[in-house]
Amino acid sequence: MADSDLIARLKSKNESYASSFEGEGVPGKAGQALLILTCMDSRVIPHEIFGLDIGDVKVIRNAGGQLNPEVENDIVLASHLLNCHTILVMPHTKCAMASMPLSAVQQHLSDLAGIDFSNFKPRMIDDAETKLQTDVYNLQNHPLIKEGIEVYGAVYDVDSGLVNWLE
Ligand SMILES: [Zn+2]
Repeated sequence: MADSDLIARLKSKNESYASSFEGEGVPGKAGQALLILTCMDSRVIPHEIFGLDIGDVKVIRNAGGQLNPEVENDIVLASHLLNCHTILVMPHTKCAMASMPLSAVQQHLSDLAGIDFSNFKPRMIDDAETKLQTDVYNLQNHPLIKEGIEVYGAVYDVDSGLVNWLE
């Protein structure tokens, strides 16, 4: 499918979305006081996974659904200003970011694109379970995140749709 066909389809779908839109006046603060940090993976659809609606949740996404300094800043803001009292860090099974080491990614990209990727350093995940535990711990103990915020970790299973919560 050519890009222009895709954009035309998106425009058409959006017009039909807007024609029955009922979100006018929904507050910008998260109605369920919830923030989810997850992966950009196209199989992860937070609103559908948890039956959430417009205005319910803040969602931060990146490659791997992982904490980094920029995400930390966003979560600090959300905890104080956007009513986010519960934070869920939710990576997923079969995540590409946890599937190979940095050196292999660099080599793969160099082979694919024919340019040097040796200085390109995406945040690959060595051990998905440890990374999730560490991210949750770091948020729970972050000095600037609003006191009393609850932080949870879970892994979304892209094959079953089930969310497996950390104990
Ligand atoms: Zn992923």
